Amino acid sequence: MTDLRIPDSIKPVDGRFGSGPSKVRPEGVESLAAVSRTFLGTSHRQKTVKDQVARLRRGLAEFFAMPDGYEVVLANGGTSAFWEVATFGLVRERAQFAEFGEFGAKFVKAVKDAPFLAEPTVHQAPGGQAAFLAAEAGVDTYASVQNETSTGVAVPVRRVAGADQGALLLTDATSGGGSLDVDLRETDVYYLAPQKALGSDGGLWLALMSPAAIERAFEIKASGRYIPQFLDLVTAIEQSRLEQTYNTPALSTVFLAAEQLDWMNAQGGLAWAVKRSAESAAVIYGWAEKSSYATPFVTDPQLRSAAVATIDFEGVDAAAIARALRANGIVDTEPYRKLGRNQLRVALYPTVEPSDVAALTACIDYLAERL
Ligand SMILES: *Cc1c(COP(=O)(O)O)cnc(C)c1O
Repeated sequence: MTDLRIPDSIKPVDGRFGSGPSKVRPEGVESLAAVSRTFLGTSHRQKTVKDQVARLRRGLAEFFAMPDGYEVVLANGGTSAFWEVATFGLVRERAQFAEFGEFGAKFVKAVKDAPFLAEPTVHQAPGGQAAFLAAEAGVDTYASVQNETSTGVAVPVRRVAGADQGALLLTDATSGGGSLDVDLRETDVYYLAPQKALGSDGGLWLALMSPAAIERAFEIKASGRYIPQFLDLVTAIEQSRLEQTYNTPALSTVFLAAEQLDWMNAQGGLAWAVKRSAESAAVIYGWAEKSSYATPFVTDPQLRSAAVATIDFEGVDAAAIARALRANGIVDTEPYRKLGRNQLRVALYPTVEPSDVAALTACIDYLAERL
């Protein structure tokens, strides 16, 4: 059944629609190849590499219009490592979470498992819906996901009204950052990883931190709490200020992310990126709403993500469509496994051409009629 051949005339130019790792621009890879002999395989403690870390940090600050006093901090391990870093280095005692998917749940688990922290409050919502934070006395750290990659639900980044003085807000922007709008003054830590909208490879975590968050990290460290060296946020802050990481980073990841940020900044920065993702979102949700067999999984249009679209199928086997697409070089449209729905998931990051999203819908229609 999967040997159906999609005509080349309707196929997207680039067949990568994965939500992470996501499409890497060929132009970025070519730039990397051009510098490879003087950059790859050279010391990360020397100027050549430090200059790229500096370019990456500058690029992020410009792209997100970083307010005065905020700092870009980075280290190895991706977002999953950052959850542990934040558990050891940012939560003072009591956290509150908005959990509405698999990624949010992982941070909750890290905090629940930490013997030195109090039991957190968790506001939950089922897949396809959103949960929200609410002021609660005694909570020193609030945490939410901007875009839940496992379900395609996105929420605005907003401070918790009525929260205790000095309480921090941590925003997981791993997949939302770079596709969805944000005013960084509305959060204390906006953290992401380079393999999503930043169109690079995985392995790093990147955090834009407010002065209050930086102060919290130093305060907790000074309190004498045991913090594993590799997860020490103060070390990450100090190393980042020196344009380096605590241990060896993937140099190509650093370079590709810096290159992508320069490209996005030249296109018009965050405003441009948000508009482009919104354009792709209008294409795919518009198609699904008109389709006789596809519907947006997220029923509330306000919560529908412009970073990652999830589309339910009825009467058509989504897994068979994903397999046939893959056989035709159009990859990674499979849904988040644990969600267990008859669904496709499509990344709408700014790297993806809106015209390719339109072409993808034509390919899905082509297969749905024939499978
Ligand atoms: C991909 C993703 C993560 C995990 O990122 P890693 O770098 O693989 O650890 C966390 N949160 C969200 C919202 C994500 O989309």
